[in-house]
Amino acid sequence: MFESNKMVDNNAKDMVRSANLTKINDKEFFMPRMTVDPYYCKGCGLCIPVCPQKIIRLSDQINEKGYHYAECFDQEACIACKMCYIACPDVAITIEK
Ligand code: SF4
Ligand code: SF4
Repeated sequence: MFESNKMVDNNAKDMVRSANLTKINDKEFFMPRMTVDPYYCKGCGLCIPVCPQKIIRLSDQINEKGYHYAECFDQEACIACKMCYIACPDVAITIEK
């Protein structure tokens, strides 16, 4: 049986969503998540000072272009405010909530 692109897309979104669910007192909550695509990040650091939670840093690792890319080191503290997303000139950041 073939799945349409839309169905595959929705399945992928459901998988991401369930990975971000956390249980507190038997109730499930969706946790915001910030991720950086290392391929598009040029390590400019503009996203770091704008984060009100101060949870972004440059990684020790480098991407294939030789840049230390940004990363969120405390996903649980992310409030999905999107300040980093707005600041990034290279659209390297994704916010899920
Ligand atoms: S969405 Fe807001 S809190 Fe989360 S990493 Fe980006 S700037 Fe920080
Ligand atoms: S603003 Fe964008 S390109 Fe610059 S370090 Fe942050 S994620 Fe990378």
